[in-house]
Amino acid sequence: MNGGDFVIIKVEYSKEEQSEIIFHIELEKEDKINPSPKFSLNGKKCIFVIPDEVSFDEIHPDHLALVSILISHPFIGKRIVFPKAVSKEFSSKANSIITKYVVENIDEELQPWTSPIDSRPVLAFSGGADSTAALALMPENTAAVFLDRPLPKKPSWSIWKNFLRLMLRLKRGVSLYDKEAPHIACEKLTEFGYDVVKMETNLEYLRKPVGFPVDVANSAPAILLANHMKFDAVAFGTIMESAFGIGHEKFRNYPKSPHYKMWGTLFAAAGLPLLQVVSGVSEVGTSIINRDSSFGHIAHSCMRGKWMDPCRNCWKCFRKLLLDSVVNKEKMTDKELDELFKINEAKRFLSSFPIKHENVLTYSTSKYLELFELDIENNSMMSMLTKRVRGDVIEVDWMEKYFPMMFDLIPEKYREDIKTKLEKYLQPMSKEEQEFVLKWNLEPMLNDEIYQKLNTNFCKKLKNQ
Ligand SMILES: [Zn+2]
Repeated sequence: MNGGDFVIIKVEYSKEEQSEIIFHIELEKEDKINPSPKFSLNGKKCIFVIPDEVSFDEIHPDHLALVSILISHPFIGKRIVFPKAVSKEFSSKANSIITKYVVENIDEELQPWTSPIDSRPVLAFSGGADSTAALALMPENTAAVFLDRPLPKKPSWSIWKNFLRLMLRLKRGVSLYDKEAPHIACEKLTEFGYDVVKMETNLEYLRKPVGFPVDVANSAPAILLANHMKFDAVAFGTIMESAFGIGHEKFRNYPKSPHYKMWGTLFAAAGLPLLQVVSGVSEVGTSIINRDSSFGHIAHSCMRGKWMDPCRNCWKCFRKLLLDSVVNKEKMTDKELDELFKINEAKRFLSSFPIKHENVLTYSTSKYLELFELDIENNSMMSMLTKRVRGDVIEVDWMEKYFPMMFDLIPEKYREDIKTKLEKYLQPMSKEEQEFVLKWNLEPMLNDEIYQKLNTNFCKKLKNQ
């Protein structure tokens, strides 16, 4: 070896108190600790608490390798050495798609992993609206695997904070044993007959600030269970806004995007192709699916509030409450609307130009105008937002439908079944609507002086709410 920076992943299995798989990240050089200005490597030990009945030896080396990539991808310089030697097929497919570094240690004799005949899909379930809607479109035998992030150890002063919180909850009559919202969502799904596994892992603490090293890393627990629970595809709640760039500046041809090419190839190489069941469905569509499906009500989008009791004080709550109001045709009172525009986090997001997932606000304001006869000229925050996000001029019904290109990405085994289920809730977009999506581009609006001015005025007024 001629030097260069590489990452070695070692793996350890412990059965002391609980069954744990521990990935150790070893870096030859430390120069990839800050791969982006946005985050840096914060820890080098990634622990997964696996169910006792899963034996470590049954986990295929290619699956350990895929998890190794998911936890360390941004930090790898030129080479990665996996905990166990991988199949020739996995390594050649990985090396064909990864340009940044090389995967090493190959076992020429090892057969690549293939799913058994009676296999089924798994969903990387978050408890949120999009992944709950995704589940409604999948076969009934789909397993939902929830990545359970342990709470950080709190400094001692927070004992008082916890004590106060406890007293407050007692006062409100909330049970002391009340669990966090996504845990309740998991329990409810189990009651609906789904096979649900919660796996605790500190994966998100590997980087600072806390978060996933790569967006698909939330499926790491599902991959570790793939052989034991017989999975053959991994589903995510990736919606049209993220997959096809709608709501961002420009349409992105997702099947041809570097994201899909890279992760689609790697997951398929491990015998677990991606199953993007809602990639052609917008946030509006997932709200409709959740409104109409038998278990959609269990979804919980807000990270801060309690189950069925969102905090009403975050950006997600802003978007969701407004969207729910039009999807459920329930008008908000002026006071409720005023409260929305006072949310500090929402103010920050709304001040961007364009706003993140702006299309969803275009839909909500357009429908609000249509359903509740909003007076667009009254200079309220709601009418100013409507004009700013073009709710008064843009056709929005396409967001209630699905974008058929999504089926190019769905493994054939599941294509027909998912299409039938999806069409119980949403119709396909017409040719003209698909054309509109293909041409999605916010640039002309961003360069338009009228919208720049609307934005300035809107932001000015928003500041004083
Ligand atoms: Zn909230």
